Amino acid sequence: MATANLPLHIASQYLLGYRRFLLNNPDQVEAIGHCPCCASSFREWRPVFGRGRKAECHICHSFERHRHLWLTIDADSGFFQPGTSLLHFAPEPFFKKAFGENPNIKYYDCDLAKERATYQVDITSIPFEDEHFDRIICSHVLEHVPDDRKGMRELRRVLKKGGIAYVMVPSQARPDTYEDPAINTPELRLKHYGQATHVRIYSRDNFVERLQESGFEVEMQLPKAKYGEDMCRDFLLGDNVYICR
Ligand SMILES: [Zn+2]
Repeated sequence: MATANLPLHIASQYLLGYRRFLLNNPDQVEAIGHCPCCASSFREWRPVFGRGRKAECHICHSFERHRHLWLTIDADSGFFQPGTSLLHFAPEPFFKKAFGENPNIKYYDCDLAKERATYQVDITSIPFEDEHFDRIICSHVLEHVPDDRKGMRELRRVLKKGGIAYVMVPSQARPDTYEDPAINTPELRLKHYGQATHVRIYSRDNFVERLQESGFEVEMQLPKAKYGEDMCRDFLLGDNVYICR
């Protein structure tokens, strides 16, 4: 299990939580799903947010995309070096604990909404100097940003030479990104894009092009190509990680 880079006190909390969970749910002992984030195993994933598809870890509450990203970051030896500065947009609870409570990492969690993170940051105008961060995590943010290209240029600007930005968005294998300024109400966005706060549906290839135009070298990592069918099934991994240098 890939928990070597999880601070020991957090791994212990998850282990205690997992033991308690198995005591209360003995039918879950027969393990089919394995969570690489918190090292728990169970018979069935939890429905996401208590409804919808069964994909959420019972213990650390990770989804498919979090587990894919964690495996990728866990293999990045530079990420956990002492003094690594990390800018983390829209911080997910698992990652906030894993990185924010790691003494090696200078952690900057940020969000457009000030109640959701320590730093209030508009991705199209990031209030840090050029080449400030060794690593950036920006997952499921750019699909909400009207001027996403400006946001990408800002990510590029604040990333150090030799740094890595891990970017994820919902994307499809379609020829073009679907966006239309006339689709401008929550109702229309829900109807056309599937979520009331999304402003487009990205084509995978076009998302790579936009990142490249912003100055990044981009590697599009598909979970099955990287980890194989068996690992994707056992860990239930999903979404592409766009590794930007
Ligand atoms: Zn977990």
